[in-house]
Amino acid sequence: MADDVQIVKRTSFLEKGHQAFLTLRQWQEAGYPGRHPDDVRELFETHCMRCPIYDPNRRSIPIIGKRGMCSDTRSVDGVKGCGCHVSPDASEWTNALAIPQKACPLGHFGAVAVIVDY
Ligand code: SF4
Repeated sequence: MADDVQIVKRTSFLEKGHQAFLTLRQWQEAGYPGRHPDDVRELFETHCMRCPIYDPNRRSIPIIGKRGMCSDTRSVDGVKGCGCHVSPDASEWTNALAIPQKACPLGHFGAVAVIVDY
């Protein structure tokens, strides 16, 4: 692990659930748009795979979740990971990179704007 990474307290289950709810509601309201699979792979290979916050062994959902997490127990310059599963595979239903609203907590990439027609 890189020297500039600190180990921090894990985000509470309640807080993670609240964040996930807000993101999923926004995603649902936008009609479930997805990032292109090529873009998901590129984001992972360009940023997450090389990121000190990425933990290839942790699961975002215990036991049943796929391994590979933007770890909520790792922090760089006071910014910690979101605790989401991230992978190069856009077909994994828990892969946060496939959701356009997912932005990197460290600012390596932004969210894609989605238009909600109320
Ligand atoms: S989303 Fe950002 S902070 Fe999280 S693992 Fe990917 S590059 Fe690192």
